[in-house]
Amino acid sequence: MARILVTGGAGFIGSHLVEFLLQQGHEVLCLDNYFTGSKENLMHLRDNPRLEMIRHDVVNPIMLEVDQIFHLACPASPVHYQYNPVKTIKTNVLGTLHMLGLAKRVKARILLASTSEIYGDPLEHPQQEKYWGNVNCIGPRSCYDEGKRVAETLMMDYHRQNRVDIRIARIFNTYGPRMALNDGRVVSNFIVQALSGKEITIYGEGQQTRSFCYVSDLVEGLTRLMNCEKQTEPVNLGNPEEFTIMELARKVLTLTGSTAPLVYKPLPPDDPVRRKPDISRAQKKLGWQPTVPLDAGLKATIPYFAGKLKG
Ligand code: NAD
Ligand code: UDP
Repeated sequence: MARILVTGGAGFIGSHLVEFLLQQGHEVLCLDNYFTGSKENLMHLRDNPRLEMIRHDVVNPIMLEVDQIFHLACPASPVHYQYNPVKTIKTNVLGTLHMLGLAKRVKARILLASTSEIYGDPLEHPQQEKYWGNVNCIGPRSCYDEGKRVAETLMMDYHRQNRVDIRIARIFNTYGPRMALNDGRVVSNFIVQALSGKEITIYGEGQQTRSFCYVSDLVEGLTRLMNCEKQTEPVNLGNPEEFTIMELARKVLTLTGSTAPLVYKPLPPDDPVRRKPDISRAQKKLGWQPTVPLDAGLKATIPYFAGKLKG
């Protein structure tokens, strides 16, 4: 049994990770400022004596004694990370710096939840970890993607300079229950719109692609990465099945039985045209690959949003 800190633990991915770690018998410290996360995500675990909730903002330092750190704290939806871009940069840079300082002091292994966004609007397809990316450093997404790039740099420098034991997960689009109703990312938007009979908002022509990973697969990948021996280099974690946004909209309409109309909205600036992970490194080093196809994952997610909409 280990004592494990999960920053951003009340968020979408974080809450599933906290639940998984508790099931494995660990003691879990969940740290969150509840910007996009919610206590409700962990309500069903509140009586577990091995869970401790800490309200804290990672832009400020904190002293704790832990064995491992999963550092997830950061808004992930473009709507939320662009709401206060300066805060997003602080969260990524100062937050990661503080968590690395903590890891160094207590000799804990630390895993950073990085992102496929560090590849920007990629010129290579699918994206391998050795690709350096195509990122606009002055655009509206840069608070997030440049923030995460600096976070990766900090991880590598603390490793080289201070021998901190690091893991870097480059997470590709992940979805599932416990995404917030107002999250603003495509899967939750489409499901909520379809279930409430509102227009399905397609940005651009809907021909841009994404590869969608179900949250249980991702949690398995994160924990395997944390617990594998010697993996300092970043590892892509995502589902390599690629879909256009239009294909996703049609699937959601079919699976919800909705007749909601499609409406076309302007494509946000710097919206990546194609995205699909090359997961050979994760397959080789972690023996990991996703097991939940998009249809099955959507079928497991739709009832969650239906319940939320009923209130
Ligand atoms: P989320 O918004 O649901 O969760 C983020 C959590 O971090 C929330 O609970 C939020 O309240 C907390 N948080 C934000 N700023 C904080 C701060 N300054 N101090 C303390 N807590 C703070 O998003 P998510 O989808 O669960 O993403 C979790 C992590 O995974 C993020 O780091 C994100 O960048 C990364 N990621 C997610 C995806 C995805 O598709 N879901 C893809 C790539 C990377
Ligand atoms: N998108 C869309 N309609 C929406 C929300 C998003 O068409 O209501 C598109 C968005 O432009 C992008 C893709 O869906 O091309 C994925 O967007 P999301 O915000 O989920 O994540 P991203 O991968 O862009 O960070």
